[in-house]
Amino acid sequence: MLVNQHYMDLPGNYLFADIARKVSAFREQNPATHIISLGIGDVTQPLAPAVVKALHKAADEMALASSFKGYGPERGYDFLREAIAANDYRARGIDIDPDEVFVSDGAKSDTGNFQELLPADCTVAVTDPVYPVYADSNLMAGRRIVKLPCTADNNFVPQLPKTHVDVIYLCYPNNPTGTVLTRQQLSRWVEYALANDAVIFYDAAYEAFIQDEDIPHSIYEIKDARQCAIEFRSYSKTAGFTGVRCGFTVVPKDISASSASGRQASLNSLWNRRQTTKFNGASYISQRAAEAIYTQEGRVQVKETLNYYMHNAHLMLTALRNLGYQAYGGENAPYIWTATPGGLSSWQFFELLLHKANIVCTPGAGFGPSGEGYVRFTAFNTRENTNKAMERIRAV
Ligand SMILES: *Cc1c(COP(=O)(O)O)cnc(C)c1O
Repeated sequence: MLVNQHYMDLPGNYLFADIARKVSAFREQNPATHIISLGIGDVTQPLAPAVVKALHKAADEMALASSFKGYGPERGYDFLREAIAANDYRARGIDIDPDEVFVSDGAKSDTGNFQELLPADCTVAVTDPVYPVYADSNLMAGRRIVKLPCTADNNFVPQLPKTHVDVIYLCYPNNPTGTVLTRQQLSRWVEYALANDAVIFYDAAYEAFIQDEDIPHSIYEIKDARQCAIEFRSYSKTAGFTGVRCGFTVVPKDISASSASGRQASLNSLWNRRQTTKFNGASYISQRAAEAIYTQEGRVQVKETLNYYMHNAHLMLTALRNLGYQAYGGENAPYIWTATPGGLSSWQFFELLLHKANIVCTPGAGFGPSGEGYVRFTAFNTRENTNKAMERIRAV
């Protein structure tokens, strides 16, 4: 039997599997040691009470024949798509129609799957370092990838590609560097896409962490982005939905693409075609839970948890800089991208922190060649563990 050769050509293991292996080997040899994880980007705080209430209510509805829900609409329930269009977009002066919103089970699947609408031979640009999903999903499809280095030299802002690309994946606030793009910097990408007949896949999974007034939350805040950008969002980091699973993707009706024979098609209808064929929607219960984030109390509760994480980020950034580390991000994102000391490689520094400070970070090299010489710390741990971790780093 033959397999898809592109899978065989993928880079070895999934990064977090490698890390987990090293951590469990260490734990086996040091069973009494308390390890603090500032590694994988998963949240630690429980769901907001308003969300939990909505989950219970939806579960009760499922218990009665009169309110039971089976398969839902593939694009998502109207109540959620309308809440998204009103709160995430219209409230910011952005015109997005509920029919342009596709509810998903999270941004990983949609950022990984959207490439199916692209021709097999198109050229894809990703930043380096990068959230591995964008690169790997395109490698699986056998596409050529252009890497746009983001280092301290360019303040982690990628330069426009020198050769033509058809697709650009951008993620801001960025995972892993924790950096953001200003309105002006993002505008340059929209202009590039419009001038080069390219499309931008914009991952805004961390928009809720933005603190600076001037940083755009959505790519549609940029003029004419409706003609060239798809936006992915997730409740995972915003509201602790990593285990609940719900997100959404905006596909404006203004974006059309042409087939080799010159036939025009709207990406909105093609994505609908794809989803109706391969996806059966996020659960009713998850969508009711997501709806609760937009209520008055939900909004306040979710913000409180975001502030908690961002205060962790502030403490970490301050502590690391006081210790003489070059640390970036952490002001509008829950990630702190830190240069390794003394010329250590990112895996060497990972090992040092694990063995000497009993802290787990993520080696930057795992996110791409330009991540070498950096590690990523997350602000998602508890306040107590965050403070303890900084003290341990001070001690080594
Ligand atoms: C965590 C994360 C997501 C969200 O993934 P879900 O599938 O919604 O949990 C999306 N993009 C990036 C860059 C992330 O770090």
